[in-house]
This record gives sequence, structure tokens and C-alpha cells, in this order.
Amino acid sequence: MTRAPRPVDVLVIGGGQAGLAAGYYLRRAQADFVILDAYGAPGGAWQHAWPSLRLFSPAQYSSLPGRMMPTPPGGGYPGAADTVAYLADYEQRYQLPIVRPVTVHAVRRGGEHLLVDTHAGTWQARQVISATGTWSRPYVPYYPGIADFRGQQMHTGGYRGPEPFHGRRVVVVGGANSGAQILADVSTVADTTWVTLRPPRLLPDEVDGRALFTLATRRTRGADGVGSLGDIVAVPPVRQARDRGVLKAQPMFDRITSTGITWPDGTGLDCDAIIWCTGFRPALGHLAPLRLRGPDGLIPVEGTRAAGEPRLHLLGYGDWTGPASATLIGASRTARDTVAEIMAATSTSNQPP
Ligand code: FAD
Repeated sequence: MTRAPRPVDVLVIGGGQAGLAAGYYLRRAQADFVILDAYGAPGGAWQHAWPSLRLFSPAQYSSLPGRMMPTPPGGGYPGAADTVAYLADYEQRYQLPIVRPVTVHAVRRGGEHLLVDTHAGTWQARQVISATGTWSRPYVPYYPGIADFRGQQMHTGGYRGPEPFHGRRVVVVGGANSGAQILADVSTVADTTWVTLRPPRLLPDEVDGRALFTLATRRTRGADGVGSLGDIVAVPPVRQARDRGVLKAQPMFDRITSTGITWPDGTGLDCDAIIWCTGFRPALGHLAPLRLRGPDGLIPVEGTRAAGEPRLHLLGYGDWTGPASATLIGASRTARDTVAEIMAATSTSNQPP
């Protein structure tokens, strides 16, 4: 027998930092809501990060609404495990109604509701917030010969620490924070070569995620923004790598062979492993039935509301859904504005005619 869809006013897909920030404001607004999360445990993407990963802001600037992240023992920048502990405590503290593990396969239109299909049945919601992040969609660019390489290839998403690369020749691809931090980590045990599309830009030591957030906010108002300062935050392991002289980047290769990489001038380098720190794409597959994607693969939004579906909001993912919305510090503001908009819409639709 098929079960009738479970009704709820607001359904949040994803229980990472963006989903929790939404949950905080929904709880405060006394909304009828549920959060469905595909993972079996709290922490979102942070539970998959490598142990040496450091946040690019101190704890007090990496906090969700209502509760400050504790400074880690010994001070400094929190790590991935600190962040998982903080998020686990956060959802407990605010008694957020999270159901896990529940994977959403599809969101589709059903009259005046959106229907949310999962392996645990269907929910029927007036409003949906999608906050599924990017971790499940690693991106590796295509280079000729990539399938012929006989060594090991790995993406940031699969990196768990330097141990498997001990004594090996490793090429690290990518000039942003993950590339710099993984290079710093793996270069403690391996012979590394750093390859980047553009010359990497290391921020001055005193500039961290706080300044990036301010700049991201200004950028949406038309100023030069983050790009004018540089990209990589000099967290302590990156500074140490700089001081060891390993942060020297080569330009991008144009071909991969069975034994290594070659540059356009014909020079080559043999290596045992290539680590692709080339980013992620938004995990939006569950929204495909709504047919909202634009030519760039993203969903056009007005604020966080999908331009083609007013009952759907997108939180996190990147600057296209709000300034620094994929960061802990930036998630609060976009979540607050989104919930205010949703509460205004649901209270109007709850009014008798
Ligand atoms: P996620 O954390 O990925 O959470 C998404 C959740 O959605 C997951 O729990 C998942 O189970 C769930 N989900 C996905 N698909 C489905 C589905 N179909 N159905 C149900 N549930 C689903 N960020 C910062 O804020 N500060 C930093 O200092 C910082 N430093 C970083 C340094 C490095 C080197 C890197 C690589 C990243 C850093 N980040 C930092 C970025 C941060 O890791 C991510 O941007 C962040 O985890 C995004 O949060 P989110 O809630 O949007 O997504």
C-alpha cells in the first residue's frame, strides 16, 4: 500500500551548516518544518575532510546564528573535527527536527505543494529549501591522456591525509585553498609539484576569512572584491609550507601520459600520483524534475528564491545564492533573509480567502 505524502509547511533538504542555519531561523519563527539529511551523522561535508584541514577564519568568525563556535584547545584556526563537533552540538542545542539518513531523489510539482520523494517515502511541502552543498559532486577537468595514466588519481573529496603518498612523486593540481592546504600537507612526506591554471595568490598573513567575507559582501555591491586581494588564506600549515619553499607553482600542463604530465613546450615530468584540487559543482540533481537550470548549469535565483519556482529556495552552494553563502559566517545572513521571505509567503497562503 502506498503511504500518503507527509505534509509539512517547510522542508529543508540537507543538514550541513546551511541547512542548520535555516533550521535555527525556522525554529525561532515557530515554523512547522523538517530537515532531511542524506548522511548518517551530523557535520555535513566536514565529516569527510582530511584531518589537517584548517578553517580560514578563527572560531568566532566561523559561527552559525545563536551559538559561537568554541575556540579549539590551544587556540588558532579550528579544524574539520572541531567543526563537526560544533555542528553536532548545534543541532542538539536547538532541537532541530532532522531525519537521517534520508536521501531526496526528486522534488516535483504537485498542485499547490512541492512533493519531495525519498527512499523513505514522499513529503508534501508548501516551501522547500535546498541546501545540499557541493561535496557529492567533485569536478575533475578533462586533459588528453587522462585515462592512460597508470599512477593514482585522486580528488580533494577523496583525500584523507598524506600517509599513502610517503616517498612518492605527487602532482597537486589547483591554486585555491584546498590545493594549497593539501600541497602543504602532502609535501611533508612526498616529493611534490604544484600545478595551477593561474599563478596562485597567497593572502598576507594578517588577512583571513573575515576579510574575505567583507570583500565578498562588497563585491555584490559592485566593488572589486576578493579577487583584488588574492585567494589563498595563509593558515599556519600553509605558512609553514611557504617557509619550507614548497609553494612554488608551475603553469598548467596540457597532456597526461601513462607515466606523468607534459607541458606545451614538450617538457615532461614523471609522477606516481595526481591530486586534483579542482573544486566541486552544486549538487542539484534532485531538482531536475522542476526543469529550472539555466545554460550555465545553475538555477537562476532572485535572492535565494528560484526564479522559475517561487516555492523553492537555494542556500549555500556559492556566491550565486548570496555573499559567501557557502561559508559558516555567510550562511547566517542568507538563511535569515530566506526564512523571513518564506514565513511571509506561508502566512499569506494560510490566510482564509
Ligand atoms: P554540506 O556541508 O555539503 O552539507 C550538505 C548536506 O546535504 C550534507 O549533510 C548531505 O548529507 C546533504 N545532502 C546532499 N544531498 C542530499 C540529498 N539529495 N538528500 C538529502 N540530503 C542531501 N567553509 C567555511 O565556512 N569556513 C572555512 O574556513 C572553510 N574552509 C575551507 C577550507 C577548505 C580547504 C575547503 C575545501 C573548504 C572550506 N570551506 C570552508 C567550505 C565548506 O567545507 C563547505 O562550503 C561547507 O561544508 C558547505 O556547507 P553546506 O551546508 O552548504 O553543504
